[in-house]
Amino acid sequence: MQNKYDLLVVGGGILGLFHAYHALQKKLKVAIIEKNSILSGASVRNFGQVIPSAMNLKWQNFGRESVSIYKKLQDQTDLTIRQNGSVYLASNEEEVQLIEELSQINKDQNYDSILLTKKECLQRFDGLKSDYCKAGLFFPEEITVDSGELIRRFQRLLIEKFGLTFFYNTTITSTSESSLGCEAIAANGQKFIASKIIICGGSEFKTLHPNIYENSDLVATKLQMLQTKPQGIYALPSNILTGLTIRRYEAFEECPSYTSIKAKEVSTSFDKKFGIHILFKQSLDGSIIIGDSHEYADAKDIDVLGYDLNMEIDAFMINEAKKIIDLPTFEIQKRWFGIYSQCKTQDIFEHNPSPNIHIITGIGGKGMTGSAGFSRQKINLIFNKN
Ligand SMILES: Cc1cc2nc3c(=O)[nH]c(=O)nc-3n(C[C@H](O)[C@H](O)[C@H](O)COP(=O)(O)OP(=O)(O)OC[C@H]3O[C@@H](n4cnc5c(N)ncnc54)[C@H](O)[C@@H]3O)c2cc1C
Repeated sequence: MQNKYDLLVVGGGILGLFHAYHALQKKLKVAIIEKNSILSGASVRNFGQVIPSAMNLKWQNFGRESVSIYKKLQDQTDLTIRQNGSVYLASNEEEVQLIEELSQINKDQNYDSILLTKKECLQRFDGLKSDYCKAGLFFPEEITVDSGELIRRFQRLLIEKFGLTFFYNTTITSTSESSLGCEAIAANGQKFIASKIIICGGSEFKTLHPNIYENSDLVATKLQMLQTKPQGIYALPSNILTGLTIRRYEAFEECPSYTSIKAKEVSTSFDKKFGIHILFKQSLDGSIIIGDSHEYADAKDIDVLGYDLNMEIDAFMINEAKKIIDLPTFEIQKRWFGIYSQCKTQDIFEHNPSPNIHIITGIGGKGMTGSAGFSRQKINLIFNKN
């Protein structure tokens, strides 16, 4: 009886945690089962931007809701959340046109943004290169988190304040449903009973329901990141996203000029081959995180992404970063990669092996931004259904 819950969530990343949070808000008895003793999935390896401005309209709405949920949680305990806004810097006339169009789209959606002149950008960001920046678009509402710390503190908050039960070091290898309810079995033989199970396993495709993933259109995406040494007294007042980001993020696809501008790009360039765009974010220790690249493999071929870091990608990112901003130091203290899952044809992967068992993964590069809002809607749907 001890292991019987209203909701069992498999996977303790951001998507699993927020499904658990919203179920706990409904006073349900909830447990998360996590296979590792220390979290190591995409949710602790990411850049830490919560930027609804980057998303299409549907996900911008989830993102805006997420921002207000994060801020409410930050009022209860320090989750590393800071509202410092994000800025897109245009490096040529085409990108200026795109940020002007995005500004208008956001005005129509009542989402605050401010167009900045080149001079205002140069005044705002110490070291910004005058020959790079032509103009900027600033989103003042947006927030930054230090992901690893956020996940640990959020987990603790859910356990201590909201009554979550968390099982570490427990790998679920099968789930099933009968008239008595849902059952999850762990590799160590432990059995868990629940009314409903939600599986948020990220890019772990091999241990639980492998056939479903192999036959899906899920893709694993590998991203490389760099972190400089602390920058002394240097302060970056907002996250910076740059020209290659303007040419890459989903939100810009809604701009009238996007298609014609993209058509002029050289498809064989190094940045295209490795999906590179340049972002800067300052961490709590004063260091700057520089991202990122994108390499893809189908779910069944995830191993081809490899375990190593491509030094050519790192060198390219540092070189591009130096063209944009003059930081006190570009000495690197850490390099890593992370993998997230995403669908080729849908904005998230949802599959029900049986009526009360829900697989929800493949949120792609928008998990830190969209999970809080998306999972609130999902929990409402799942628990109000019957
Ligand atoms: C480098 C990088 C940068 C990114 N930057 C951003 C950003 O700035 N903003 C943004 O919005 N998004 C960003 N993302 C995307 C975001 O990090 C992901 O969308 C999000 O973390 C996915 O969360 P998740 O919970 O689905 O997966 P994960 O965090 O991978 O969590 C899945 C968990 O499930 C556990 N698990 C799997 N199978 C089992 C099982 N059978 N039994 C028990 N446990 C299991 C795993 O151990 C893991 O802990 C970035 C991602 C990466 C990799």
